[in-house]
Amino acid sequence: MKKSVILDNSVKKKLKKIKFIILDIDGVTVPRGTKIKKISNNLSIRIRKVPRSEIKKIKKLSQKGYLIGINSGRGLYMLQDMFRSVLDSLVITYENGSATWYKGKVHQHVNSFQKLKKLRSELEQVQHENIKGFEPKEFIITIHCKKRVKKIENIVDRYKGIYWIWNDEAYDIGIKNKQTKAKGLESVMKLLKLKKEQILFVGDNYNDISIGKKVGIVVSADKSRLKGDIYVNMHKKKFPAEQVMDLFLEK
Ligand SMILES: [Mg+2]
Repeated sequence: MKKSVILDNSVKKKLKKIKFIILDIDGVTVPRGTKIKKISNNLSIRIRKVPRSEIKKIKKLSQKGYLIGINSGRGLYMLQDMFRSVLDSLVITYENGSATWYKGKVHQHVNSFQKLKKLRSELEQVQHENIKGFEPKEFIITIHCKKRVKKIENIVDRYKGIYWIWNDEAYDIGIKNKQTKAKGLESVMKLLKLKKEQILFVGDNYNDISIGKKVGIVVSADKSRLKGDIYVNMHKKKFPAEQVMDLFLEK
């Protein structure tokens, strides 16, 4: 079979130690771009379907003894919906490291309620033609916008210790150094007794940067936003997640 990703020998060596494969969602498992619309009290969000071929490969890798993780900014309800048929095989860390779902149990890593409640109500007051809507989230704040909205940035900047990340479709807002994918991963490593060199992460965006130092191998699906040990491209037929899973299935 033709290999889609070319690897040098040092990376190949590191690949042999990997036990835990973590996938980001947007731009890695499914294409980027969330469709969200709010008309008065009706909120609609299009949930992207994970390709069948990816689901099959998650199953196969799990049968081979690999642990598969999701580490995403999205909410749990949506991730469960996307991966319903393989939930048995997954460790789901969601809302930028705020919590992890594993075997039906939720492990909350941070309590952001007090720190974000005032900010959230302030942000809800902002009226701007570029604001599309708030994505339902439990621990972080995600506001979808057509373009950057300076007013949102200014409000968040007035709060100490709170970050905002603009990823070209939405703002993720959360507690600095606490609601990060890296913090979520740290908790998962403790929970499952995993070492850095056993972990590979596939990501594509700014909210993935924090995870880079915590894992043995970083695969980046967007050179301009995330540094990686391996680079893959977003192909129409085979998304980055699948290209990486193939590395472990072709062996
Ligand atoms: Mg992403």
